Amino acid sequence: MLKVIQMVMLFMSTLYLGLIVILFFVKKRVSNDDTEIYKKMLITNLNAIIIEFILYMTGNTSLVKDGIGLSLFLILSKLFVGIVVGWFILIAKYTLLICDKARNNKLSALQNKKKLNNIINISYIIVLIIILLLPVKFILLDNGATGYTQGPATSFAAILIMGLCVFMLIELIRARKKLNSKEFTPIIILLILMLISTSIQTSNPQLLLFNPVMALVMVIMYFTIENPDIKMIEQLDIAKKQAEKANKAKTEFLSNMSHEIRTPLNAIVGFSECMLEAKDLSEETKGFAKDIVDASNNLLEIVNGILDISKIEANKMEIILKEYNPREVFNSLCKLVIPRIGEKPIEFKYTYSEDLPGILKGDVAKLKQIILNILTNAAKYTDKGEINFNVNCINRMDTKTSLLYISVKDTGRGIKKENLDKLFNKFERIDEDKNTTIEGTGLGLAITKSLTEMMGGRVNVFSKYGEGSTFRIYLEQEIISMEIPESKTEEIEIDYNAFSGKKILVVDDSKINLKVAENVLKPYHFDIVSVTSGMEAIEVCGEKTFDLILMDIMMPKMNGIEVLNKLKEIPGFNVPVIALTADAIEGTDEKYKNAGFDEYLSKPIDRYLLNKILTKFLK
Ligand code: ADP
Repeated sequence: MLKVIQMVMLFMSTLYLGLIVILFFVKKRVSNDDTEIYKKMLITNLNAIIIEFILYMTGNTSLVKDGIGLSLFLILSKLFVGIVVGWFILIAKYTLLICDKARNNKLSALQNKKKLNNIINISYIIVLIIILLLPVKFILLDNGATGYTQGPATSFAAILIMGLCVFMLIELIRARKKLNSKEFTPIIILLILMLISTSIQTSNPQLLLFNPVMALVMVIMYFTIENPDIKMIEQLDIAKKQAEKANKAKTEFLSNMSHEIRTPLNAIVGFSECMLEAKDLSEETKGFAKDIVDASNNLLEIVNGILDISKIEANKMEIILKEYNPREVFNSLCKLVIPRIGEKPIEFKYTYSEDLPGILKGDVAKLKQIILNILTNAAKYTDKGEINFNVNCINRMDTKTSLLYISVKDTGRGIKKENLDKLFNKFERIDEDKNTTIEGTGLGLAITKSLTEMMGGRVNVFSKYGEGSTFRIYLEQEIISMEIPESKTEEIEIDYNAFSGKKILVVDDSKINLKVAENVLKPYHFDIVSVTSGMEAIEVCGEKTFDLILMDIMMPKMNGIEVLNKLKEIPGFNVPVIALTADAIEGTDEKYKNAGFDEYLSKPIDRYLLNKILTKFLK
C-alpha cells in the first residue's frame, strides 16, 4: 500500500511539474526579479524529483545494502534534503522580495540586492556542507516500499525549513496592509500548506511528501501570482504609468519654462515698445528698440512652437469650433506676412475664389496658425520673385460643407527631392548651411501637419530645387452662410483718450512687470494704483473702488485665483478682473474664465488685445 502511495505521489508531482515547466518556458514572459526566482524554484523542484526518482528506484534493492552502493545512496539522500532546503530558501526570498516591493512601493525593490544575494548563496553553501557532513541512517521498510533516511542531517533540514516558514509568515504579516489580496492570499495559503506538510513529513518520513507539495505550490503560484499574462499586463501597466508620469513632468516643465521665459520677455517687449513711442529718442535708438521687439517676438514664437508640439504629443490640443468670416481671416494673415517680406523684391499676390462662403465654422485659431506658418516660410525662404496665396473651395450644399483648397506658391530656393520626406519631421531643418541667417526651429511644418490632420485635413508639397515650392492644404469646414457679411473695419487706431480718468488696479508681485504694465497703460491717462501682493490688493479694494483690475496669477503666498475669490466675498464687488499671466498653455483661456475672471490677457501684453479688452469693459 505504501509503495503505491509513494509511486502515485512521485508520478503526480512529475506530471504536473512537467506541465508547468513546459508552460512556463514555452510562453512569452517578462523577466523580473520574482519571475527569475520562480524559474530557479522550478529547476530546483525538477532536480528534487529526478533525485527522488533515483532514490525510489534503488531504495529497496540489493544495490544499497552496504558498501559503496549504500554510501552513494546516503550522499544522494542528503543532496535531496539539501535541494529541498534550497527550494524553501528560494520561496522565502520570493516572499521577502514581494513584501519589500509592497512596503517600499519600489519597482526594483530590495536595495543592496547583490549583497543580499551573496549572503543567501554563501549561507546556502554552508547549509549544504553541514547537511552533507551530518550523519544519517537509512531505514529500510520491509513492506516493499522505499526506505527513508533519518538522523541529524534530516532534523537539521526540518528545523531550517520550519524556520524559513516562520520567517515568511512574519514578513507577510509585516507587509499585510501593503500587499494586495491577489498576492497575499495565494502566498498565505501556500505557507499554511507547507507548514502542515512539513510537520506531517517530519513525523511520517516514509510518506515522501515534499515533492508533491513543492510541485503543487509551483502549480498554484503559476496560476495566481506568477501567471505570465497577468505579469505582462502588470509590467505594461507600470510602463504606461511611468511614461504618463514622464510626459506630465515634461508638460509641467514646459509650462514652467514658458512662464519663466515669458516673464522677462514681457519686460523686454514692454520697455522696447515704450522706447518706440518715446518722443525724445533718436531714430537710431528707436531702430534698436524695433530690433529688440522683433527679436523678442521671434523668441516668443519659438517658445510657443515648443509648447504646441508638447501639447500635440500629450494629446492635449483641443479642437475649438467657432464661426468666422474667411475673407476677414485671410486678409488679416496677409497683413501679417507683408512685414515679414520686408524690403525683399517679392510681389505678394492673393486671390480668393468668388464662391468662398461668407461664414464658415471651424477651428479658426488653428487654421490661422497653419496658414501663417506656410506663408511665413514662403516669406523666409524666398529672396525674389513672387509669393502667390490662393484660396479655392468646393461647396456642397447637401452636406453644408466647403472643402477649402489653400495654396501658397513661392519662387524661393525650393526643396531637394530627397529632403521632401524630412520636411514635416519636428526639429528637422533642411539646408542647414543656407539656413544660418534665417531663424527657425524646424517645428513649424511639424505643427502645421499635426494640426491639419487633427482637423481632418491634408497638407502636401511640390517643390523644385532652385525654382520654388508650392504648399497645399485641403481642409473641410462647415458652411454657416454663403452671404458675405459686411466687413467690420478693424480698430487699428487706438484712441488713448477714450477712458481717461478711469481707475485701474494692477496686481503683480514682480516690480519690473508692474513697471511694464504702468508704461503700457500710461498713454490712456488712467488713474493707476499698483500693488505687489494679493493681500494689498484686497486691502485697497476695501478702501477704494476701481473700474478694472489687472491681476497676475503666479504670486507667492496668495495666487491670483485666491485673491479673486477673496475679492468676490466683498459685498457689492463687481469690478471686471482680467487675468494677466505668462502662462500660455492650451486651455488657459477657458481655465481663467472658469475660475471667475472676466477675461484673460497673456504676457507680453499685446496692445491691441489690451485695447479691445479695455473697450469691452470700460466703454
Ligand atoms: P523652420 O522654418 O523653423 O526651420 P519649418 O518646419 O517651418 O521650420 O520648416 C522646415 C524646413 O523646411 C526649413 O528649415 C526649410 O529648410 C524648409 N522649408 C520650409 N518651407 C520652405 C519653403 N517655402 N521654401 C523652401 N524651403 C522651405
